[in-house]
Amino acid sequence: MTSQVRILRLNKSGLPQAWVSREDAATLYAKDQVLWSLGSESFRLNGGYNQIGERSHLMLAPIIACTGKTGKKSFTPALSNRMLFRRDGHRCMYCGFEFDDRSLTRDHIIPRVQGGPDNWKNVVAACARCNGHKGGRTPEQAGMELMAIPFVPNVFEFMYLANRLIRGDQMEYLQSRFTGQRCWEAA
Ligand SMILES: [Zn+2]
Repeated sequence: MTSQVRILRLNKSGLPQAWVSREDAATLYAKDQVLWSLGSESFRLNGGYNQIGERSHLMLAPIIACTGKTGKKSFTPALSNRMLFRRDGHRCMYCGFEFDDRSLTRDHIIPRVQGGPDNWKNVVAACARCNGHKGGRTPEQAGMELMAIPFVPNVFEFMYLANRLIRGDQMEYLQSRFTGQRCWEAA
């Protein structure tokens, strides 16, 4: 299990950049690109054996801030159903019931046929039944009510949505900058 746990890479100002494998993190350490790190418990990555049979190893922090380009100024999170359903806590935003991924659909609040865009602010998770009932209408036209206002995840929320195996200290770091109105379910 621990092998799937990844390391949160930040830029030097502390903004999350990516989840990286322990091997990729080791490369960043080796290239001397890790500026500072955070987290309570480190990961051990075993290396090779030397002539006298000692195995080398490297301790990796769960959160590392690295040198390099600070990245784009504005962050535009890619929209996918997987992330959308996680954002909405796997609940249909009309009836409020919880569903698995296969039973959820991407509903456009202002329907595409009425010119509604395909972006985070105009989409919610909806069960097939509610989506079918709503059809090509807005919630007002269909007499339906949204359970929550959809929001665009910031980079901290996006990193949370992008990884199912987040450790306590990593979660704490991300959560400190959540702005979404929804209560976030524990991963
Ligand atoms: Zn529903």
